[in-house]
Amino acid sequence: MLDIEISDRKMCRLKRVLIKSFSVEDASLFRRLKKEIERELSIECEYIGDQPIPFASYNTLRKQFLAEKFLETLLIEKDFEEDIVLGICDVDLYEPGLNFVFGMASPFYHVAVVSTKRLRESFYGRTCNEDLFFSRVLSESVHEIGHTLGLEHCSTHPCVMNFSNSIEETDDKGFRFCSSCKSKMERILCLYQN
Ligand SMILES: [Zn+2]
Ligand SMILES: [Zn+2]
Repeated sequence: MLDIEISDRKMCRLKRVLIKSFSVEDASLFRRLKKEIERELSIECEYIGDQPIPFASYNTLRKQFLAEKFLETLLIEKDFEEDIVLGICDVDLYEPGLNFVFGMASPFYHVAVVSTKRLRESFYGRTCNEDLFFSRVLSESVHEIGHTLGLEHCSTHPCVMNFSNSIEETDDKGFRFCSSCKSKMERILCLYQN
């Protein structure tokens, strides 16, 4: 039913989102993510498999991985310039100057990474909640894809492009674009149609 609805909608064929896993073995997560990204962004989305975690990015003092290195790895493996590549990992990511990041994106190279580490209730010592976990992964994924398209942080609540620095802020923003961000995104995507 959903697939039929999507194929009837206008999709920007020259942009695809390719999902890659950094050693995250969760086929149903990727299936759901693909479906919801297609629904939210009207972009064709595919899961294209696994690649190793860049262990050289591990900081032994911080016990975290440098997010930028994940983007570099995705970029090296990227075949087509017009694709957006979204990597999903389950290790804790950081950037210098920040305690952690939920994800990171490069608008120039159209690559992004999201970490599931801090999206699980178990990280906060609470009982696991798969639906909540998935909605967080979706929210952070759509947010980072928005950045790859050149969207910046937005202060309209509850736009998915709201900046979030805590899990409460992630839960507060949901996974939908506000009307202004949505029309910006559609304009950006349609630039690539001709
Ligand atoms: Zn952001
Ligand atoms: Zn917005």
